[in-house]
Formats: sequence, C-alpha cells, structure tokens
Amino acid sequence: MLPASQSTTTRFSRDFFPPHVVAFVSDRSADFKLSKDAPELTKPQNTFLTRQLGFRVPEVLTVRQVHGHKIVVAARGAARKSVALEEADGILTDRHNLAIAVRTADCLSVFIYDPRNDVIGLIHAGWRGTQQQIIKKAMTLMRAHWDSRPRDLRVAFGPAIRSCCYQVASPFLEYFPRETVKRKQGYFFDLPQANRNQLAEAGVDAANIMDCGVCTHCDPEYFSYRREGEAAGRMISLMMVRK
Ligand SMILES: [Zn+2]
Repeated sequence: MLPASQSTTTRFSRDFFPPHVVAFVSDRSADFKLSKDAPELTKPQNTFLTRQLGFRVPEVLTVRQVHGHKIVVAARGAARKSVALEEADGILTDRHNLAIAVRTADCLSVFIYDPRNDVIGLIHAGWRGTQQQIIKKAMTLMRAHWDSRPRDLRVAFGPAIRSCCYQVASPFLEYFPRETVKRKQGYFFDLPQANRNQLAEAGVDAANIMDCGVCTHCDPEYFSYRREGEAAGRMISLMMVRK
C-alpha cells in the first residue's frame, strides 16, 4: 500500500470544509465492497482508513444501497437503530464522531455540510437516484430536521464516471434533456452536472459546490463498474464531524 502522501485518495477538508469536518474518498488500493454476510468494516479496511485519515474511525453508519431515493436520518438523541442495515442511498446526521459512508464505483458521492448546524450528509447518486432527485430530497429533510438553509450549504462531489465516458441509451434524452449530449459515438450523460443543476434549483450557491473532477472510468486509480464489470471493487466515501 502506498503511503498516504502518494495515494490518489481524495480529501476535501483542507481547502473546502472546515478542519473538523472529515470528508474522504478511497482509491483502488482498498476494496470497500459491502459484504452480504458481514456488513461491518473488516480489519484491513479499518487499518487502511486509520492510516489514510490519521485516526481511528470510532463508528461507521452505512446503508445497503438500492438506487432509490430513501435517506436515513441519524439525529442526535434519537433512539439507536438496530444493527441491521437499512436499504437507502443517503445518510444525514448531526451526531459528532459518527462516520457516515457510501460506496461507489462510477456513481457519484455527494458530500453535504451545513455549517450553521454542523450537520453532514452523504448521498449515493447514480442515474436512477439522480432521476428521483435524491439530492433535493436531502435538502428537504435537512430543512425539516434542522432548518438548514440551502444558501448556507457546502457541497462536494467525489470521483464518478463523467460525460467523457458515460455512454447511455437514447431514453436519457428524455430523463435528462439538459445533461445528455449527442456525439458521433452516441449519447453521453453528465451525472455531476445533473446533480449540480438540481442543487442550483434547490437554492445552493454555485460557489459553494466543489467537484473533485475525477472520472473513474478514465483514471485507473479508481474502481469503475463500466470498465471492470461485476468484478469491480468499491471506493468508500466517508464523512464525519470530528469533535
Ligand atoms: Zn472519462
């Protein structure tokens, strides 16, 4: 395994989120594919995270992703849920030192931070979740639970397949007329742009959106479902308010 300084893992915190907000995406040096039998992190996965983050992650809340628009809200003071994983594609929390995580290999991970309430959110957005406007659902839930205001939010995009590589079928012209382009080879979908547009419609300031810009299909340092098929591993996107 490469030392942290040489790896291609992604961190936004230094320049975009405040220092106490951890936001991290792994590269292909560790596979975080969710196991059916043992959904908790394995020892090698924990070791990898500790090494990358420089501290041991105390507790991780994750979900079984189903390309829907359901979002789990883990509010401070609410009764602890059972250990069973919920089927959902997003997590919101105001709890400190609780890491939330989603897994991707081409889909977009969206990190959300509300500085006024110290609330974080992490969304798994593939084309299906994007079509169901999961990111807008997150804004609605944040407003309902914490009175979050879209104009305060800071949002970051992790690595994902981009319009350079994301060839799609013609129905995408109907699903996403603004973000599907026709080129000589066919139709291509701009997944991050679709989420950017939905954020703008929800009232998030374009200046408060940061995109790491990495295409998982172009860059061999990342897992890509399109490039590698069923055998592709998964990157973990992890976010935590560390206090
Ligand atoms: Zn590409």
